[in-house]
Amino acid sequence: MASLSLRHIYKIYAGGVRAVSDFNLDIDDKEFIVFVGPSGCGKSTTLRMIAGLEDISEGELYIDDQLVNDREPKDRDIAMVFQNYALYPHMTVYDNMAFGLRLRHVPADIIDEKVQEAASILGIKHLLSRRPKALSGGQRQRVALGRAIVREPKVFLLDEPLSNLDAKLRVQMRTEITKIHHRLATTFIYVTHDQTEAMTMGTRIVVMKDGIVQQVDTPTTLYDNPANLFVACFLGSPQMNIFNAKLVEENGEVYALIGETNKVLIPKSRAKRLIDVNTIGKDVLLGIRPEDVHYEQSLVEAHPDCVINATVDVIENLGNETILYLNVEGKEDYTISRVNARYSFTQGEEVKMYLATDHAHLFDPTTEFTLMGVPDYNLIPAKTVAIDGTLAVVFGDTCIKLPASVTERITDPSIINNDVTLALPPKAFKSERTSDDDIEIEGVAEFFDNYPRFKAVYVAVPGMQNYLIVARGLDEQFNGGETLKVYINPADVQLFNDKEERIITEKVVTGNETVGTITEENGVYTYKLASESGKCKLNYNNYAVEVGPTGEKVSKKLIESLPTAIAETPIHILSTGFSIDKDDITKTPKMVINGVIKNLDEYRKNAVVTVEVPGFNGDVTAVIHKFAGYNIHDRIKLAVNPEAVVIGTYEKIGTVIEKAQEEGELRYKEILAAREKEKELEAAAKKPVKEQAAAKTEEDASAPAAKKPAKKAAAKKPAAKKAPVKKPSAKKK
Ligand code: ADP
Repeated sequence: MASLSLRHIYKIYAGGVRAVSDFNLDIDDKEFIVFVGPSGCGKSTTLRMIAGLEDISEGELYIDDQLVNDREPKDRDIAMVFQNYALYPHMTVYDNMAFGLRLRHVPADIIDEKVQEAASILGIKHLLSRRPKALSGGQRQRVALGRAIVREPKVFLLDEPLSNLDAKLRVQMRTEITKIHHRLATTFIYVTHDQTEAMTMGTRIVVMKDGIVQQVDTPTTLYDNPANLFVACFLGSPQMNIFNAKLVEENGEVYALIGETNKVLIPKSRAKRLIDVNTIGKDVLLGIRPEDVHYEQSLVEAHPDCVINATVDVIENLGNETILYLNVEGKEDYTISRVNARYSFTQGEEVKMYLATDHAHLFDPTTEFTLMGVPDYNLIPAKTVAIDGTLAVVFGDTCIKLPASVTERITDPSIINNDVTLALPPKAFKSERTSDDDIEIEGVAEFFDNYPRFKAVYVAVPGMQNYLIVARGLDEQFNGGETLKVYINPADVQLFNDKEERIITEKVVTGNETVGTITEENGVYTYKLASESGKCKLNYNNYAVEVGPTGEKVSKKLIESLPTAIAETPIHILSTGFSIDKDDITKTPKMVINGVIKNLDEYRKNAVVTVEVPGFNGDVTAVIHKFAGYNIHDRIKLAVNPEAVVIGTYEKIGTVIEKAQEEGELRYKEILAAREKEKELEAAAKKPVKEQAAAKTEEDASAPAAKKPAKKAAAKKPAAKKAPVKKPSAKKK
């Protein structure tokens, strides 16, 4: 019995193959965890690192709260069963199972007890005296399992143990292994590329791709709430249909337009789970599983708003069901539907199909992340102000004052007294204040979704356009419509800039400071960084040529503050001034610095990279857009944007915030005033219609037109009326 914790685990093979990246997982005692993903995604590597057969390049592995990174495999109390179970051919089944225990000098009577017990669990007692060659594939696999069972390990690791068996035996062994897991009541980690094995065996599944964990959850949650397009398409057979669609709002309802001719309603129950109401009006990917594409005429008639036209192209009758491959205008590949095998179809037949859009999935076409459900972060448009000696983030009636421990990790000082996107992780909310710094956010809990490990509560917060999604304990009760207070610690907030980059990094920003020797020759200023090796050079022309108002060419100084005295000068480079783009690097080879990556803080396609560069005071912090292809410890080339090179000593962010206080106070006052106005308008909008009309006449007469109240979330109204469900009247041909 054991629990495991994998924290920021990386595996980088010699030659630079990054097999596993930032793998984080807590495995409870007695869980059956399945690692699934296409071949080469890093499943086996992760399993082998747990077993101790492979070194962990970075990160920590705990078994029962003990760090085991450096513990020998034999001392980890783990048993591993491989795809190629090598049984000793010259030994009987009994001896094969007893072998490991004999090596450990376990007394014979105890060995016998354990072997007999394992054999009875596996149903192979009658085979104990046989040799492996007289066994079937399934029986051999059982013996391999038996060898692991007799050791009574804390954790069982199984690496594709069934892939050598034929299809029928695989199905049988699947249930056997599940039963063995129940009987042994210990932790199992199982690797497979087969999504059916994953779905049927795992208590939780870890879906991996390219060494990166895509999502971890129970089979049902992964199937019903995939976090991204990859997970959506990997699980389920036939796979989910993906339509290019556009969301539109008509009469308070959200529709998806597919091609030129098809339009389906996204019911309110679904639309209100949109993470961002601004998605309405934009292109999306609409996902509908084949079992949610219905042919039954009763359903088609009952949901006229969710019907599409299609042409039958290929019909596969499997006996128990028929798989239809349909052509739908606006979709390049087939739309697949699973229908009752009683219906018959002809190729070329025109049909109307009902898309059960109450099970629809929506994905962002660029990031491929889901637009529904529980996001990593609640993203809230907010304003920053420098007040009370620190930086505060303001939205609606909430003001989050960031402590120095957070502000010193901000990579971009230009966000001070500016607009940002505040990012609050749903799981960071607490129901009670646990520290004086905690921020209270109050709203109305409107509805919730149950997940296996938490409840996702959708909270309407004043001043927020979307719902605030808050993860709460499963035992907490919500009736819907009640006021809810939640607390978050300022240390748990994140900020994003307009380029969707995270701007609070894991590590303190060092300032990227160094000393440069500046020389000038014919207007070309050369910065030579005073590195010990003298290798690190930054050369650039401080002038750019611009075309003036009358067409003449004028040169413009890029850096105004370039000192006239040419000497050793402190310089620093803004964290946002780096690029790993190949073109940038080759275009200006003299403006490239070289270093070694010490830390990677990746999120989606961006990363904050900490790089050790000779000649710099401390490490260099670089915010890189579209980061890919580098590992920790790799050498990296960073192209430097000349406009990001600043002459003078780096001003710590705390100092910048201090200096921005006066402007911040003013801005804060304006924000408060605007909020008051907004509240008045909200209150006016809530008044009964008659009063509103009266107020409006007054307003029209007296005041200049006021700003309309902010648009509320598209679907914050109660659920749509349910269409009557008619009796089935299946059309038989
Ligand atoms: P999976 O089990 O998901 O099929 P693996 O964990 O075996 O994937 O491999 C992940 C990646 O690491 C693959 O790209 C594979 O080629 C690479 N890899 C595996 N073992 C080694 C090794 N010993 N040396 C270098 N690369 C390896």
